[in-house]
Amino acid sequence: MQPLSAESQAILERLRRLRSADAATHGGRVLSYVYDSGLAELDDLATEAMRLVQPVNGLDPTVFPSVATLEREVVGFARTVLHGDDDTVGTVTSGGTESCMLAVKTARDVWAAAQISGDPATQPMLGLRPRVIAPSTVHAAFHKAAHYFGLDLDLVPVDAEGRVNVADLVARFGPDVALVVVSAPSYPFGTLDPIEEVASAAARYGIPCHVDACIGGFALAWWGDLPPWDLAVPGVTSISADLHKYGYAPKGASVLLQRDRDRQRQQFFATARWPGYPVVNPTLLGSKSAGALAAAWAIVQRLGSDGFADLVASCRRSTEQLHTLIDGTVGLRVVGSPTGPLIAVESDTSASKRSRVDPHHWADRVAELGFTLQMQPGFTQSNGFALPRTTHLTITPVTERMLPELSAALTRAADDVRGKAPANPRFAVQVLRLSGALGRELTADKAFALLTRFGIGASASTDDASTPLPSKMAPLMALVEQLPAEFAERLLIEVLARQAEPASS
Ligand SMILES: *Cc1c(COP(=O)(O)O)cnc(C)c1O
Repeated sequence: MQPLSAESQAILERLRRLRSADAATHGGRVLSYVYDSGLAELDDLATEAMRLVQPVNGLDPTVFPSVATLEREVVGFARTVLHGDDDTVGTVTSGGTESCMLAVKTARDVWAAAQISGDPATQPMLGLRPRVIAPSTVHAAFHKAAHYFGLDLDLVPVDAEGRVNVADLVARFGPDVALVVVSAPSYPFGTLDPIEEVASAAARYGIPCHVDACIGGFALAWWGDLPPWDLAVPGVTSISADLHKYGYAPKGASVLLQRDRDRQRQQFFATARWPGYPVVNPTLLGSKSAGALAAAWAIVQRLGSDGFADLVASCRRSTEQLHTLIDGTVGLRVVGSPTGPLIAVESDTSASKRSRVDPHHWADRVAELGFTLQMQPGFTQSNGFALPRTTHLTITPVTERMLPELSAALTRAADDVRGKAPANPRFAVQVLRLSGALGRELTADKAFALLTRFGIGASASTDDASTPLPSKMAPLMALVEQLPAEFAERLLIEVLARQAEPASS
């Protein structure tokens, strides 16, 4: 590579400055979003692999056959570790959301094809919207998929430990159900859903079953002593597992495996009905980078099954230690019995009010002590049963070397906020209600004005800093809990949209 000109160097210098304001992607200080193997060589290997395919267009593997080889080998690896057979085929997608969306799109099209070709007695189904059934802990990607592809999402409430009752789920089966989704494990609480029971009941009804192993797939495969949860389970028709989570690849890579070829062909979109090149796409994008695929491929080759097993063993040791530490902390407890390298922490309501720890105040205090945890708002399910607000920890291999410092921060933060009452924005919500704002459609300017009143995004973006968020997030989360969902969603859209708006000239 030629040395860069001074102009190019200055551009990169600015990028470095911008990057320095980001959360740390390495070193185990951020316990969500990033998955650090702790092996610096893996990152260098990924960088070099991405550079090698940088100019390639992943759209057309017949023109760039390297893309087909990389995808074939990654799918082959995933198929082996997730117990698929020779009839299991797959695709590398841009991420978990795309894998989940494609699983739903496939199920919708398989269902629709069956309505058309089936017995005339089922024809009335043509007028119905197909339905997806899942426990209410299913990842939001399925909300998005149902919304984008025109299906109804039927969420089955879970109990206080995050478990779904199989009978409740099966009771909702019917001819309009295109897919049932279970998680291995669920993101919010790390619950391993009853996959064998659900998949076998679904198979009896002829309903396909997707296992969302986006977060857990490449960790549970080496976790040890688990009931079958992947394609080893009869009745599981597809499974998603993210390479950019516990596959340690840079963002932009996930695998979707489908149990048989005919089913997977419904995932594709093809058209020869326009004057341009014939389009054949297995995924949502057209032209696409092969960068994350190449990086994921290189990492999979380098680690092999044994390398994954070592990294997962480290995650498991750290997870068990943190679980024990949190359950031993007065005022906090881990939700349910999580499986895999993630845990959710709630306030221990069996403790007296004075010794309870609000998980969001705790997370805010932990942040001041140098570690970023993820807040999850409380959520009331369709049956009225409320799931508590929690704080989420995603444990990665690098966590192990941070355990002493992390454990000290978690304990100290709990001591510092123990007894502090949870944030209560009832007053702000009341003001909104009385002003009539809750009933009205919000324009972008009105939404922004409200956010400014709450002290969020008050100043225009400057050159190097985006719209400010409050330093403490607990009050914001409490607001999300108490506002009507559509209203909160509209405000959240405004926060994000403003981040990318150029400053007014
Ligand atoms: C992360 C995740 C997804 C969505 O994946 P993205 O890669 O963020 O698009 C879906 N399901 C589960 C269980 C996840 O943890």
